[in-house]
Amino acid sequence: MAGMKTRERKLKEIQEIAASWGKIIAQEAFPNGPGMDVSLADMEELAMAASRALVKGTVEAMTGSQGEQFGVEAACPSCGKMCPLKTVPRPMVVRGGNATLNEPVGHCPKCRRDFFPAASGVED
Ligand SMILES: [Zn+2]
Repeated sequence: MAGMKTRERKLKEIQEIAASWGKIIAQEAFPNGPGMDVSLADMEELAMAASRALVKGTVEAMTGSQGEQFGVEAACPSCGKMCPLKTVPRPMVVRGGNATLNEPVGHCPKCRRDFFPAASGVED
């Protein structure tokens, strides 16, 4: 499948970019190079902290972008009234770290209920 090949190529590109960020992080942590007292465990710890931050930043950027696609209001699932949406931060454990998702939440003053447009799927 052509789509799969494109996806694999894109993934490889992203991995190469992320690997080069590893060099930047190493340079940032030890501008003069790590001393001989820096153990492999120390290096792993630094790399894992950077990796968790990368997971957090990537997941938050993508879920934030999806959240924006819901716009500023959505129809109440009970009565259909258009209600303003606000975003509520929801801390989550994701693979490889933690992330705070900014989830769109609507409140219907008529039904006196909160609803999550993300749960009912994106409508055309
Ligand atoms: Zn309602």
